[in-house]
Amino acid sequence: MAELILKALKKVYTQAQSPAVDQLNLAVRDGEFIALLGPSGCGKSTTLRMIAGLESVTSGEIRIGNKLVNDLHPKDRGVGLAFENYALYPPLKVRDNLAFNLRAHGLAAKEINRRVDEIARTLQIQELLDLKPAALSSGQKQRVNMARAMVRRPSVLLLDEPLSHLDARLRVELRTEIKRLHAEQRFTTVIVTHDQLEAMALADRIAVMNEGVLQQFDTPLEVFNHPANEFVAGFLGE
Ligand code: ADP
Ligand code: MG
Repeated sequence: MAELILKALKKVYTQAQSPAVDQLNLAVRDGEFIALLGPSGCGKSTTLRMIAGLESVTSGEIRIGNKLVNDLHPKDRGVGLAFENYALYPPLKVRDNLAFNLRAHGLAAKEINRRVDEIARTLQIQELLDLKPAALSSGQKQRVNMARAMVRRPSVLLLDEPLSHLDARLRVELRTEIKRLHAEQRFTTVIVTHDQLEAMALADRIAVMNEGVLQQFDTPLEVFNHPANEFVAGFLGE
């Protein structure tokens, strides 16, 4: 676990007229759970992908646990990712999907099995371990996706709209699950969502973004009761 700091982070895609993310400053405390909230296209996923190292940074700094990670390979950043479209490998059983990254890191087989079993218990997916992804429901896939992100014991857990493809009932159920897991494991967590209720329900603090620019970063209560500007008021008030 670690503190995550973004300093004047900026992303300009080639051929884009305006930055996707502009001068973003955020300090996420060790163990804190924050949400990046805003409408589609406001730069949430770009921010997350830069933190993960899947997207280059135009300028600014990303620090994890006080270490500058701008130039580190994604696998050396200590981040765990569960992305909306981050597909499981279809030919591999759930167990091997979970073990894949640990194997790539050269962990001993015994330790890998121990960790996979432990995370499977935590996320209550033990009975899925010997199935292949095609046999899973979308809710089960999301659980496995999250297990895969957590099994590496990341310093920072990054979730990009992990609940967006689920029906309302499952979404509420998994929300509760995520909340419980966070209380238990205290991963420093950044969740991306365009759903203000989800952000309010999950996050210690919410970073509201619009057109690549941070509008407000505060507790759900403050953001809701004392919006910094009209955009925040409008977006939360929907
Ligand atoms: P969000 O996740 O908040 O919906 P994104 O971070 O995906 O927003 O996108 C922010 C902006 O950057 C949008 O205008 C989007 O069109 C643009 N964008 C995203 N990815 C790319 C890309 N790979 N190349 C060019 N433009 C992109
Ligand atoms: Mg997105």
